[in-house]
Amino acid sequence: MTERFTGSFTQQEPIPDDAIAAAVAVMRSGRLHRYNTAPGESPEAALLEQDFARLTGARHCLAVASGGQALAIALRAAGVRPGERVLTNAFTLAPVPGAIAAVGAVPVFVEVTERLVIDLADLEERIATTGAKLLLLSLMRGHIGDMAALRRLCDDEGVTLIEDCAHTMGARWDGRPSGRFGLAGCFSTQTYKHANSGEGGLIVSDDDAFMARATVLSGSYMFYDRHPAGPGPDAYAAARYEMPNCSARMDNLRAALLRPQLALLADRAQRWNERYRIVEDGLRDVPGLATVPRDPREGFVGSSIQFRLPGRDAASIADLVARCAARGVELKWFGAAEPAGFTSRHESWRYAPPQRLPRTDRVLATLLDMRLPLTFSLDDCRLIARIIAGEVASNRAARRLGV
Ligand SMILES: *Cc1c(COP(=O)(O)O)cnc(C)c1O
Repeated sequence: MTERFTGSFTQQEPIPDDAIAAAVAVMRSGRLHRYNTAPGESPEAALLEQDFARLTGARHCLAVASGGQALAIALRAAGVRPGERVLTNAFTLAPVPGAIAAVGAVPVFVEVTERLVIDLADLEERIATTGAKLLLLSLMRGHIGDMAALRRLCDDEGVTLIEDCAHTMGARWDGRPSGRFGLAGCFSTQTYKHANSGEGGLIVSDDDAFMARATVLSGSYMFYDRHPAGPGPDAYAAARYEMPNCSARMDNLRAALLRPQLALLADRAQRWNERYRIVEDGLRDVPGLATVPRDPREGFVGSSIQFRLPGRDAASIADLVARCAARGVELKWFGAAEPAGFTSRHESWRYAPPQRLPRTDRVLATLLDMRLPLTFSLDDCRLIARIIAGEVASNRAARRLGV
């Protein structure tokens, strides 16, 4: 009998009851806007910022409307000017080059390795050839490269580092929380990330002047003194006049949904990794399939898994994706010629000048990606791994026979 998986790859867990209760309380109060407070009240948005700053060990935190807004605000607060070049790894999702374009800057893509992390030699070369002064590092699919080596390179070259932590909320490198290696870390609380408020974003930083600029940019008006996880009033002396108000605030309703979820992050990470390890174990010894090795210093959160099929051509990969789909297993292919769903590759971001990225192209050509929502049971994960392993084997046999 051919096994089939019938679960949904896009079904997240429900919002926890205490988060629902907190959200209902905000709605009953009518005070959803973060600056609409009763005397003596600490609004949920400000409390969320304090909670997340504590969780990451950052001095400051700012909650905003989305992860993409967090990135664009961070770039602008870091001083990126229109026309300036901004480095970013070429394996990422569209909101990252999108945020660079949103501030009028020009993306410079950097190669990624087979471990799906930024290629430091290529980074060094592109810094030298472009003179770019800022790296927006996308920790795509939660793969965290050698952050110590990256930091050293950025410091030596005078390059400012901002981390896109959309897939690394709750992750660590060598014990240090992701998002804490450069000027700022940007997180997303959109439904498919590690905490779910529908839409939302968070920025963490230790830098007073940066955070003052980011806060005014986020749409604080002159209420920046209502950011207890932000810098003191002196930090705003210039920002209050110089930064435009770009209205990308987070509201109290979303913040109320998020605060109880922050307390669950460590538990969720453990449950995600259990699922990740089961699928990884089921795929590890499949001939023709390469799992992605992980560095022992990488405290990752396995909310999705990637694997490669080195040497396969496009037709064979498209066939495998279709066979798995027919058995209920949804794989995304980062090498597909046309952008589809949430995947796209650098050639389709035509607002950026075309760039040569042979190594990345080679990696992405055979790279497959699968979500692992927490609604999957451990048995679901075993079944999914069996289906993929079986289809890879028969797809290989078919290829050998030339059918
Ligand atoms: C989701 C995502 C973002 C942007 O987050 P939104 O909250 O959806 O704007 C940025 N980078 C990566 C890698 C993402 O997956």
